[in-house]
Amino acid sequence: MDLSGFAPRFRKVPTVLTKTALLTIDDSASIHMGERVDFLASKGVPAVWFCRGDYLAERPEPAIQALKNGSILGNHSWDHAFFSQLSLTEAFDQVDRTDRLIEELQLRAGVVRKVKAFRFPFEPQIGSPEHANALQKGLLERGFVPLQVEGVVSAAFLSQSESGNLSWFWTYDTEDWSLVGPDSPEAPQRLEAVLARMDKDDPEAACGLNRPGTEIVVMHDHGHTGAQWQKVVEGLLSKGLRFTLPLC
Ligand SMILES: [Zn+2]
Repeated sequence: MDLSGFAPRFRKVPTVLTKTALLTIDDSASIHMGERVDFLASKGVPAVWFCRGDYLAERPEPAIQALKNGSILGNHSWDHAFFSQLSLTEAFDQVDRTDRLIEELQLRAGVVRKVKAFRFPFEPQIGSPEHANALQKGLLERGFVPLQVEGVVSAAFLSQSESGNLSWFWTYDTEDWSLVGPDSPEAPQRLEAVLARMDKDDPEAACGLNRPGTEIVVMHDHGHTGAQWQKVVEGLLSKGLRFTLPLC
């Protein structure tokens, strides 16, 4: 008997779990930030753009537009330094210079700053416990606040949260930094790997989006990735992520 006509009935249909997520984007502002800001607006996706002060000084306009669209500018240091290698004076010069610029852009956008968000460059490598504590204390004194969101299940995130880390941590790294230029022969397979990662099931490695729980997603506003960036966002949306901003 030929049952091939019935096959579609038994085909496994992937289920998409709708869940809340926060999109965070590091290392802005790139040469592509403007089109990325517009793309997110077209999809109704707000974001936290963690900006480097030096890039923000070069390209303030897309950041102003992001603010006008309701997104948040976070502080990601002046020039993406290794904080483990900076004195406290140098470290807070990085933070304060960038913050003065963010305040200026808030004024130019005519938007009140919603929250003071900070993320260290090279996140885990911020030095000895004493140095890390002094950095945290200085951030606290400057009014930076920890990321608090309901519904996160990632153990790595929760342990950061419980330790009072003021640097905004994440639950899912898209690894979009591993993409190469769109003209490279390797580009299609790299993009495929980034998208395939969303379906892997390894939450402790910040991998896979098929489990329940709020996600804090990291992307990178890197210039070399071009329009592949939008494909990654589309991949995230296809996984049922509903992006909102944290209630601050
Ligand atoms: Zn970074």
